[in-house]
Parts: sequence; C-alpha cells; structure tokens
Amino acid sequence: MSLSLSAEDPTVPGDATDGTWLECIDCGETFAPFADVRYTCDDCEGLLEVRYADFPTFDDFEGEGVWRYADALPLESGVSIREGATPLYEVPRLEDEIGVETLRIKHEGMNPTGSFKDRGMTVGVAVARELGVDRLACASTGNTSAALAAYGSRGGMETLVLLPAGKVAAGKVAQASLHGARILEVDGNFDACLDIVQELAIQGEAYLLNSLNPFRLEGQKTIGLEILEAFREDYGAVPDRIVLPVGNAGNTAALYKAFRELVQAGELEPAAVPKLTGVQAEGAAPMVEAIENGADEVRRWDDVETRATAIRIGNPVNAPKALPGIRETDGTAISVSDEEITDAQRALAGEGIGVEPASAASVAGLRKLRAEGIVGSDERVACLTTGHLLKDPDAAAAAGNDPEPVPADTDGVLERLADGNSSDR
Ligand SMILES: *Cc1c(COP(=O)(O)O)cnc(C)c1O
Ligand SMILES: [Zn+2]
Repeated sequence: MSLSLSAEDPTVPGDATDGTWLECIDCGETFAPFADVRYTCDDCEGLLEVRYADFPTFDDFEGEGVWRYADALPLESGVSIREGATPLYEVPRLEDEIGVETLRIKHEGMNPTGSFKDRGMTVGVAVARELGVDRLACASTGNTSAALAAYGSRGGMETLVLLPAGKVAAGKVAQASLHGARILEVDGNFDACLDIVQELAIQGEAYLLNSLNPFRLEGQKTIGLEILEAFREDYGAVPDRIVLPVGNAGNTAALYKAFRELVQAGELEPAAVPKLTGVQAEGAAPMVEAIENGADEVRRWDDVETRATAIRIGNPVNAPKALPGIRETDGTAISVSDEEITDAQRALAGEGIGVEPASAASVAGLRKLRAEGIVGSDERVACLTTGHLLKDPDAAAAAGNDPEPVPADTDGVLERLADGNSSDR
C-alpha cells in the first residue's frame, strides 16, 4: 500500500458504512469505521486512514468552515464551535522581502481556540460521540489539549489531558483548565506523554484524540481545501507550494490526503499538486533528518529542545503518512534555528499577524529555502501559521518591545518620547 498520487480507484470493502471505511496504510486491511474503537491496524499495527467510495469535487462544497467540506468527511455534521474559514492574508512587504511571486498566510490561529487543532476536534469529537465513548484524552504540547477541552465540553464529554510539565505555553494551559479538562502534568516530554496516553487508550480508559486518530486528520484536510479553493478563485490555479510547521506531521499527512483525493476526483493533475514543504526547529528535526537522508523511517530523537514548544516533538507519529507526501509532491523539509523563528514571528507581527513561535517556523523556513535558491522567485506560496500569538504570551513579550516606565505626568512622558525609542531588540 503506497500512499501515491496515482492510486487506483478503491474497491469498496464489505465493512464500509455509507461508502466510508478505515484502511491500514501498510497491509491494506479494512475495518468498519464506527463499529469499534481502534487507532491502528489489528493485524500489523500500521496507521489507519479513512477511505471513501466517492470523491467530491469543488462544486460539491457549500456553506462555510470545516463542514463546508462534509462530502469529504466521515460524518455529515460535527460538534462545532464554527471552526475553519480562517483568513488567507496578503503580506506585500514580506512577499517582497522574501522574493516570491505570491505569498499568502493561512492564519490558523483565527480558529475558535486559536489553533488548527479545532478542525480535527470538530470531527474527532463527533466520531467519539458516534462511538458512544464518554471520556476523551490526549497528550499535548498545549494546543491539542485546549481544543480537546473546548470541543469535549461542548459535546458534553469528560476530558483528560497529559502535558509535559513546565513545557506548555501559558495560554494553552489556561484554556484546558477553564474548559474543564482534568490536567495531568507529566514529568517527561511530549513523546513520553503520548506513550502513556496510548497505553491508557489501549486499556480502554479513554478515547484517544491525538493525531494518531485518523478521524482528526480528516478535519485538518480542510485547511488544504480552503487554500486551494481560495487560490483558484484569486489566481486561477492552486499554489505551487504550501509551507507548514511540522511536529507530529499530522497536518502534512492531512494536506497530502486532501491532494490525493482531489487527484482521484479528477480535480487536480498530479503534476499540479502543491509541493508540501515541512519546517522543523533545529532542536527537534527528525523529519528533516529523514528527508535529507532519504530514509523510509524516522529516527526518534530522545532529547528535543526549542522555543517553539508546539513542535517540540522527537517522534512524529504520522511520519509514515507524511514522508510520502513530501516526496511525492516534490516538496522538501528544512530546519530553522530559534532565532530564525523569532525573526519570522516579528516579521509577521510587522504585517499585523500575531502568531506563536511554532507558527512562524513556516515563514522562517520559506525565507531560508528562498535564500538557498530551492524555492524559486516565480513561485506562488501559501505559508501556514498554526497558532495565535496569545497562546504563548511569554514568547511574544520576549520577542517584542519592552514597556518603558514613565511618571504620571505629560512632561515626563514627553521627555521620555524625546529620548527616542530606547528599547533594543
Ligand atoms: C500541533 C501544532 C503543530 C504541529 O502540527 P503537526 O500536525 O503535529 O505537525 C504546529 N504548530 C502549532 C501551533 C500546533 O499547535
Ligand atoms: Zn495493517
């Protein structure tokens, strides 16, 4: 089973429900989608993908947000807080400075809880309801826990989140907390949290809503569908390249799946599929290592470190789905330093777009690839920014201007202003 852009039309298996089923990407075994709880293949433990008998075309989509794409999703409707339909900003100064034909920023921080994780949760939590489970769980670098807590509470379900102690940005913990999740702070990193929560899920203690869950990735596919629709409308063609930050590589896998389905629907020529370009932080770059070495498997990094805590991940669980996505679309992967990430965060902020550090990795990576000549000046590019500035107020404050103390009188303020801008970045 290779995840190729030229797959043949599927044979619908007997265990399909309304033309939808789960299929192992390694051995091809199929399963009914909503009959039992399962996250991986019973036979070989391979990753599962949701498959459909029919592929929708652009004409089939109507409405706004994630559920505009219901025909491409496993359910007709979800547990919704109006996710999706995020802005695709123009950034003329940044476009000029980086030197590409077109640069647009798909700001996923504009989702209800401030990250793209909402797109996956609206589908994942709806499937959980369909399965009749009552407790939802995830391991998280922060944003998944915020989204799970919000969507779980909206769906009337109990939520449990495992976070790496001291490594989650303040805004995210606050969200999980107020939305009523039970928060367990683990004395270990994200990858350790994920190992534990997977064990809990296998033991039937909770329904797992990490991106190992194939239903979540279906919701995240809609980022790609929105970008493609917007580019078709504005430029008459899909973008040449989509650049995105990579942690567990769920988005990379999800975008690639959207492209494959559009190719199967006859809506997209394989040669026109946007080049998927993944960006990781230097201190957590196992995917980049695998792409550079031409490796089929990703080596787990035990020690990972970066200011971009949302992508501080050493064992990207969706690598088997994402590596073919990068390769088959003729994309690439690159790592960037924390300084390059912060520079890009400031550049985006200079265009009025406030993002958290991990999000800025996409722009930092594009800048570097353009400087190296790997991205051409004639390219039309969309960069994904995955989370909102307010998610990580400490990082924003550290990257930005310092407040200047002044006395409570106009003369004192004028005097200070006459001193010029003393804040040094
Ligand atoms: C989850 C997350 C990522 C990583 O996405 P993957 O799909 O796991 O690669 C990147 N940025 C932010 C802000 C996130 O919350
Ligand atoms: Zn299998």
